[in-house]
Amino acid sequence: MRIAVGTSDTSISGGSMRLVDNFIAGEYLASASSRRFDKRSPLDDRVIASVAEAGRGEIDAAVGAARAALAGEWGALTTEQRVDLLHGVANEITRRFEDFVAAEMADTGQPGHVMRHVFIPRGAANFKVFADVVKNVASESFRMATPDGQGALNYAIRVPKGVIGVICPWNAPFMLMTWKVGPALACGNTVVVKPSEESPQTAALLGEVMNAVGVPKGVYNVVHGFGPDSAGEFLTQHPGVDAITFTGETRTGAAIMKAASEGMRDVSFELGGKNAAIVFADCDFDAAVGTIFRSAFLNTGQVCLGTERVYVERPIFARFVQALKARAETVKYGRPEDHDADYGPLISQAHRQKVLSYYRKAVEEGATVVTGGGVPEMPEALADGAWVQPTIWTGLADDAAVVREEIFGPCCHIRPFDSEDEVVGLANDTVYGLSTTIWTTSLARAHRVAARVEVGITWVNSWFLRDLRTPFGGSKQSGIGREGGVHSLEFYTETRNICVKL
Ligand code: NAD
Repeated sequence: MRIAVGTSDTSISGGSMRLVDNFIAGEYLASASSRRFDKRSPLDDRVIASVAEAGRGEIDAAVGAARAALAGEWGALTTEQRVDLLHGVANEITRRFEDFVAAEMADTGQPGHVMRHVFIPRGAANFKVFADVVKNVASESFRMATPDGQGALNYAIRVPKGVIGVICPWNAPFMLMTWKVGPALACGNTVVVKPSEESPQTAALLGEVMNAVGVPKGVYNVVHGFGPDSAGEFLTQHPGVDAITFTGETRTGAAIMKAASEGMRDVSFELGGKNAAIVFADCDFDAAVGTIFRSAFLNTGQVCLGTERVYVERPIFARFVQALKARAETVKYGRPEDHDADYGPLISQAHRQKVLSYYRKAVEEGATVVTGGGVPEMPEALADGAWVQPTIWTGLADDAAVVREEIFGPCCHIRPFDSEDEVVGLANDTVYGLSTTIWTTSLARAHRVAARVEVGITWVNSWFLRDLRTPFGGSKQSGIGREGGVHSLEFYTETRNICVKL
């Protein structure tokens, strides 16, 4: 097997282990303190990588490299030259496609077909799409009157914000990281990326791509580690970071916001959700069941846009519950490389403990367990993995913790409703506001309900369709700001006005 991530491998009993190092100023470096942590496979809990943990010294070096690159060759490039380089990055990712697929499969344990058809292609697209957006963006100008009758011309220029701190989660690591790095670089910034401690490999591998394509050293830097009292916190506290973009839990976002307030740094946050599906009796029943099955259980439920609350109009409630149960019971557990496997483990034992604690809580809170609720029987080789069953509940009160808190696992609660007003109230009765799906064949109702649900993204008769030019982000406690297309420019650039007296 090719060992990438700019590092070497070492033999351990039962297989090879990768050494994943920080990537600073174009070079892979271990921590000066030699601090490392283990990355374990979600499949069987085996140690698969030893990762260098960045301390304050490495963060300082990475931020320093990023600042130097801004003032150097990178800052001097024309937009066209930058765009060409980023197209080169996308092409090189495509050339190294299987390396990225392998690295992501190892870190997450998720089925290979999801990596191949969604996550890795989207990672490459993130560089191309934003390069093209930046190349084609218009700027504003206004001619104003002046007392002498000659007038003045105002025009706006966009400049990069500077060094962007990019802090990422583990659930679709490469896609979510490049969703930030692509526009940040397209706008002329430099980045210091802190991938999740659970998914360090694709961010590290991208360093090889940057070097191969000739992206100047220091433009893209990666520091590994944890959040509090580690690389994440040190990065957000560093005064050389001009703005912070973060995807992760709402609670973590609050901590990062505090750190960013020092120096009045801007933030862009994509946070947690407790997303509802609203199913009216006039829907295309099979399409609703099939897509809600995906939105609840794809990636083992570890999708921020996934569905954890399902509201079904009473006449079709019982039929819907039975149909979703039947689909959930067809999942095929397996390794990422198994062709027929469509369901992997959770990311880690810690996350599994959290999800299983909600499985127990649901029963304590009086749920009827329609299916699942525990741990599947796995073959001996996978018995130590972070496996849980896809789980469906009914019968919980609207104020049950399981209905209100984000679980981020393969589970949902289904509840009947009787009117449009009632279901809009139920869907909005949450601190979160990320996404909703609406299932109906009534065009008028679809538009009416879509305008009333308090979320950043609404899908009608669909889910997870994304045109990268559209605004993406959450309402309420699900996020701050919008990224996507020209909306990303609002965060990754600063607009300056120049007024010329004519
Ligand atoms: P998390 O908040 O635990 O961690 C995310 C990242 O933040 C990790 O890299 C972590 O090391 C770092 N971190 C943790 N504490 C920090 C601190 N105090 N300072 C700086 N960095 C810190 O989230 P997670 O468990 O990795 O991801 C799951 C969460 O992400 C879920 O809540 C999910 O809804 C959310 N998510 C949201 C979106 C979206 O687009 N809205 C997309 C994907 C995931």
